Amino acid sequence: MADAPAPPEAWDDGVAYEQYVGRWSRLVAEPFVRRLAVPVGRSWLDVGCGSGALSRAVLALAERFAGVWAAVGVHPNSAAGWQDAWLDRLRALAAHPKVVAIGEIGLDYYWDKTPPATQHHALARQLDLAVELGLPVIIHNREASEDVVRLLTAAGGQGGAEEPAARHPLAGVLHSFSADWATAEAALALGFYLGFTGPLTYKKADDLRAIAARAPLDRLLVETDAPYLAPHPYRGKRNEPAYVKHVADLLATLREHDGILTAEDIGRITTDNARRLFRIP
Ligand SMILES: [Zn+2]
Repeated sequence: MADAPAPPEAWDDGVAYEQYVGRWSRLVAEPFVRRLAVPVGRSWLDVGCGSGALSRAVLALAERFAGVWAAVGVHPNSAAGWQDAWLDRLRALAAHPKVVAIGEIGLDYYWDKTPPATQHHALARQLDLAVELGLPVIIHNREASEDVVRLLTAAGGQGGAEEPAARHPLAGVLHSFSADWATAEAALALGFYLGFTGPLTYKKADDLRAIAARAPLDRLLVETDAPYLAPHPYRGKRNEPAYVKHVADLLATLREHDGILTAEDIGRITTDNARRLFRIP
């Protein structure tokens, strides 16, 4: 999933589609499709976007390619000017048949772009929207695990730590998971999925690998987060969708206890998981 913290100009209607999409994720049609040629879970991709020009660009891409699906939402780093009226715009975008999720939404305490109180409000309102529309959420969490879990648990005006996952009104994924086991456990208890990206392959990521080895197999997703977080051996370079294979390869080595031996197995399983979560046929 493209992690695209939209700068303010992204909200202007005049931003050119190819310029904008190309700038963040190099999703301009031809190279994008070529880069999708990966041997794992390649039949579809979910691309996050905001509610301005980027949304229209991503929706145009989703209309053009059968295997591309979209998510709409306001990223916490773009939420500084949040107005509740934006919900109407998101609701209208979400009515598009190729929109399968609300996201990325969440909390980011690392980048000082949006005051925490505004982030909390924007997240809570978008979680309500997801409950209202019956759509899963793609959650961005950077150094904000406690508050993310608290807001997810409270979503839809019900829930609570003891609420059985089956009755929790919200489905979703903690995307590009980078938190601790306690956070993973809390998310899993709510019925959430964990999305793993390039950092799973990094030298010092033993804690992250332990979580990926321990979480239920039917709750794991692999994703790119392109253009960021390229996996080893491309670390530090611009990430590309095809590199997700390296994340799947690594995950396969962590799940030998399940009898999972190949990246293809992991690709099949995580693709099934994603189809289930995003209700993609
Ligand atoms: Zn993110």
